[in-house]
Amino acid sequence: MDNMNNIWENVKSQLEQEISTVSFDTWIRPVKPVAIDNVKFTLSVKAEINRDMLTTKFRSLIESCIAFAAGRSYELHVIVESEDTSASVDPITEANHLNAKYTFENFVVGNNNNLAHAASLAVAEAPSKKYNPLFLYGGSGLGKTHLLQAIGNYFVRNYPEKKVLYTTSEKFTYELVTAIREKTNQAFRNKHRTVDLLLMDDIQFLATKELAQEEFFHTFNTLYEAGKQIVLTSDRLPSETPHLEERLKTRFQMGLLADVQPPDYETRLAILRSKIEEEYFTFDEEIVEYVANNIKSNVRDLEGAVKRILAYAGIERTNTISMELAQKALKEILSTLPQRNITIGVIIDEVEKYYNLPKGSLVTKRRSNDIAYPRHIAMYIAREVLNESYPRIGDEFNRDHTTVMTAVKKIKANLSGDTELQDIIKELVDNIKKN
Ligand code: ADP
Ligand code: MG
Repeated sequence: MDNMNNIWENVKSQLEQEISTVSFDTWIRPVKPVAIDNVKFTLSVKAEINRDMLTTKFRSLIESCIAFAAGRSYELHVIVESEDTSASVDPITEANHLNAKYTFENFVVGNNNNLAHAASLAVAEAPSKKYNPLFLYGGSGLGKTHLLQAIGNYFVRNYPEKKVLYTTSEKFTYELVTAIREKTNQAFRNKHRTVDLLLMDDIQFLATKELAQEEFFHTFNTLYEAGKQIVLTSDRLPSETPHLEERLKTRFQMGLLADVQPPDYETRLAILRSKIEEEYFTFDEEIVEYVANNIKSNVRDLEGAVKRILAYAGIERTNTISMELAQKALKEILSTLPQRNITIGVIIDEVEKYYNLPKGSLVTKRRSNDIAYPRHIAMYIAREVLNESYPRIGDEFNRDHTTVMTAVKKIKANLSGDTELQDIIKELVDNIKKN
């Protein structure tokens, strides 16, 4: 028994060095060791989500720390303390409207959101001191609600005595109107003005409602003066929100404004990998890249793509995700997204790729047939698909326009009897349009 506790203490101190403080406090600190035998080292946790994290994300790390501490290896086994109570809703969670699935743990940080993430974490770790209010803004599906909720969940876990409230400006307005009608204004005020952390989502919708703006102004002041933390989100800056009262704009700008932007390619890859792992799946890297290359709008759409692919796998009763399956799954979504803007440059790229020519070779002066022929094809496609003028095409290829006219005429003449050439051009045009 003692051995077991000693091993676990040692494992904890190793893990503390290995993982972030947030992670450690969330997933490792609350764990209790409960049994050890020849094969297994058993830990007990409070909820399923903790077990899932330990047995997936942290399994190999924990097993190697145990092996290091114990001098031999054990298989990690995790049980949930009270399986039967896991269905009952935590009263705190019920009242504060937080969704436990949004955490700092599963938020992927990239160039597009690092300020918003850092500010949110700072607010969670040192509430009411810095950045009050924190104002997160940016387009839809980019993680504002996720960060807002992560701050709330961090509070609930780390400062159980503090009161947290998550709401939206629409809910706030609706409840205010109801309170006035039912003469429960005092209860409404108590609910909003006695919290330690107020999380207000989508504040832009407050702007058209005068009564709600007035009430929120007083809510804000009461909390602010009492040194309570306020975090707001919006789809735009306060200064760019029409109908938002000046005095609210001023208040909202007192703290820190932090934006979230659409994720770049690298971040999209990281987000996809994390979402796939959350579903306990693996995709080939090639497929992850395919999705990241095609879905650029926002994180919600990336998540949607992963879910769609998994749903297709479910329908086809397979655990292996092939490229074909992924393409099939995304076909409908992709057809509604904007296509790449086709330019002469794109045509040149695709033709060079098709003929395995080094990049840029079509625009050189070289006249050898292995380059001249693909060059003529590219000119023909630029003329036929893009309807570009001969001089414009000539400019792109460093040729004069009569050369382009001759080339296009030649390919046209060849095409009539040459089915192979017809196929090649069809495939090239497909590639160009598809990208
Ligand atoms: P917003 O409130 O900005 O419209 P959400 O916070 O609702 O966006 O995000 C949409 C979805 O994308 C959510 O499921 C959220 O968990 C996920 N998401 C957004 N940003 C990230 C991120 N950086 N890492 C992981 N998941 C993210
Ligand atoms: Mg949101």
